[in-house]
This record gives sequence, structure tokens and C-alpha cells, in this order.
Amino acid sequence: MGIGRAPADTPAPERGGAAPPRPSWAALGALVSAQLRTAGRLGELGSTAARRNDRTGDADPLAGHERAAGAAELAGRLRAAPAPMARGGVACEVGRMGSVQREEADRVRGCLLGGAVGDALGAPIEFDDLARIQARFGPAGVRDFAEAYGREGAITDDTQMTLFTAEGLLRAVARGAHREPAAPGSAIHHAYLRWYFTQGSRPRAVGTEGPEWPDGWLVREARLSSRRGPGVTCLSALGAATRSFGEPARNDSKGCGTVMRVAPIGLVAASERLAYELGAEASAVTHGHPTGIVAGGAFAMLIAHLQRRLPLAEAIARTRAFIAERPASGETLRALDASVALARGDVAPAPAAVESLGGGWVAEEALAIAVYCALVARSFEHGVLLAVNHSGDSDSTGSMTGQLLGLTLGLAAIPERWLARVELRDVIETLAADLAALRAGAFDASAHRERYPGG
Ligand SMILES: [Mg+2]
Repeated sequence: MGIGRAPADTPAPERGGAAPPRPSWAALGALVSAQLRTAGRLGELGSTAARRNDRTGDADPLAGHERAAGAAELAGRLRAAPAPMARGGVACEVGRMGSVQREEADRVRGCLLGGAVGDALGAPIEFDDLARIQARFGPAGVRDFAEAYGREGAITDDTQMTLFTAEGLLRAVARGAHREPAAPGSAIHHAYLRWYFTQGSRPRAVGTEGPEWPDGWLVREARLSSRRGPGVTCLSALGAATRSFGEPARNDSKGCGTVMRVAPIGLVAASERLAYELGAEASAVTHGHPTGIVAGGAFAMLIAHLQRRLPLAEAIARTRAFIAERPASGETLRALDASVALARGDVAPAPAAVESLGGGWVAEEALAIAVYCALVARSFEHGVLLAVNHSGDSDSTGSMTGQLLGLTLGLAAIPERWLARVELRDVIETLAADLAALRAGAFDASAHRERYPGG
């Protein structure tokens, strides 16, 4: 995302149809909170996957009973010794995890760190067209971190907002442990208002007036208080929010500020459908165009399918089939279809192929570019470099591609030279560890009340 992207931040010329129906978010909040804070959550997911695989014949060895058994073992261990996880550390629990659990945690870390790496690779060239990129970096374009915002490896608003999405989910669950559960959509909106605060502005929304606001550990992380090309729509919508959290934005933007921040939802949502609905809700608080909302839901659902070990092509197909039944999904469907057709064709993966899908400034184009780059990637490195070297929104498409590839290929696929230098790695690792614990049913909400206060 970034400032000055007129196509994304001006009213879109075409509406895809009626606004998507809004689910009952109060009920959804109770559902996700209750399910996600139940120890043994991963076991339940494993059982669900096993039932699904029984129907589909999917031979994924980790999607069924084996994973369920491993998760139950992990949940038991963490219930017996919750204190180390309460510190939010990373290495403290890894030593006690079995191989399956470590792999699960590494996939969550891979998703968030892969996204940050892709974001950082694209940051120096976000506003450069291909000719300028090649003039600066040579015919092959960017091959490594380059300076942006005064350092190499700098992340941008895409990673910042993704981290606040994660924090909002964790706070929704933590609050549910000692008060009435927060609707996750409202909690994520509240988190975005804390991100807005880090950008140097005080929100006007009810509930943000008191001296105790903002609270929690993430907003106090000084390194996040930095403007990294924040999206105009995100800033204006959050600044305009004056009523209850979770209210949809009143604009007609479909900028990629929706899709680029919702991946954590897919990592922990109790079902793929819930990932879609919550991804759409989290999108709607800043972007009012139906396509921005549908594409945001679709990316969260895609992540949820991949989290359950579905192959990428199958995950795309199932996401497509789901949104085909939703209203106002035409633009997103056409964008997904274009990326799949391009990947299946004989066009070489190159900037021209990426640019045939658009610039990525709007949500469905960013989704299409990320899906295409992940489909044709020969490696994490190949995929994210393809995703940033084009004339469009390089950091957002790099970030989303990095999330897809980091999740599917795992942390080990990300080159260490990038992991070692990416900005905020420690913050990202902490949130990844907490999301992984949440997914495993091992998130000790009571022990986390100071870090993730209710709201
Ligand atoms: Mg950005």
C-alpha cells in the first residue's frame, strides 16, 4: 500500500453488484472465541480435515488423524506448563514440541515472516515502474534488500497492519477468557485504530478517548510508530470512524489495503468459511467497495485452506467455488481466473506476465498477482522476486506472495540472509508464536491479559 495510488483510493468506476450480506458478528465473535480458546483446537481441526479427506480422498498425510493425535499431545503438554508460553517467547516452547507441532508453528512463522520479507523486497520500488527498477538495479531488477525508509530490510504498512490484525484476533480471544467475547471484526477494527495511532493521528472513535488508550504491547513498540507509505483509504476511513467498532467504512474504495493485511485470520479461523467472513469484515471497516471486501475474504479463505495443507491449486479452486456463490464477486472471480489461466499457459514467468494481471493497486489485482506468482514459483526466492519486479504495487504483491509461499513451503524455504535482516523480526516472531499457540489451543488467555487486554 502507499500514498498517491490514485486508482486504488478514488471511487471505483464499477460496482460489482449489491453489497455482500453481513453475518451476525456478535454470534461469530462468540463462536471464534470459544472455539479458538479451547485447548486441543488443533486436534479438532485435524479431525475436521480427516473427515473432509475421507470424503475427498485427499492423501495429505498431515491433514488428518496423525495431526489430530499430535495436536492433542501438544495441547496436553502446554496445559501442564503454560507459563513459558505466557511470556510470548518463541524458543521456549519449541524444545518441547514434536516434529509435527514444530512444523505447524514454522508454517505460521513462515507466513508472517515470508510476508515481511516480500514487503521489504518491494519497499524500495513500490512507486517505481519497471524501467526505473531496471535502471536502478539492472535488467533482473531487485535481487536483494535495498534501502528504503533509511535502512535495508524495512517493512511497510502492509506488514504493520498484518501485525495489528494478528493482535486484534489475539485480543478478541483474550477478552473472551474474562469478559464477554469480543466480536473479532470489532477487535480487529480496534487494532487498526491503534495502528492509526502509530501513524501519528488520534482516532475519534468512541472508546479511544481515555488516557489509558491505546493499551497493549504492540502499540507501545516504538519501531512501529513510523509511516511507511500508509494507504490513503485506510487512514481516512480510520480517521472517520466515530461510532462502534466494526462499522463498515462509508467509501467506495477497493484498494489492496484489504487483502494485504488479512492473512492472520486465515491462520487461526476455525473454518475456511469463517476465514472468509471475518476477512470480509476486517476489509469492510476501511474499504466500502464490494470487490475489496470479497477479495479480502477470499485471501483469508485461501490462507485457511493452505493452513489445512490443501495444495495451492486446490485451495484456489475451492476459494473460487465459494466466492462464486457470493454476491458482487465478479471482479474477483475474473482476476483469479486470469491468474490461473496465465500460470497454466506457456507464457514465461516475467514482469510482462505479472503486469498483464494489472498493477495490484486494487484488491482483486493484488490477489491475482500473488496467486500467479505463488503458482509458478520455483522457490520462495523466485516467487517473491517475480512478485516485486513490476510496475505496480511491489510491496503489497511481494508481501502477499511471501505469505502464500512462506505458509506452503515453510520457514526453511526463506533464505536466511533475508530472515536475518528483515525489520521487526522479533515482533513478528512473537506474534507468530502467539498465533501458533492459539491455533494449537494452547494460548493462555489469562496469562496474557496485560499483553492482550480486552477490547
Ligand atoms: Mg506498503
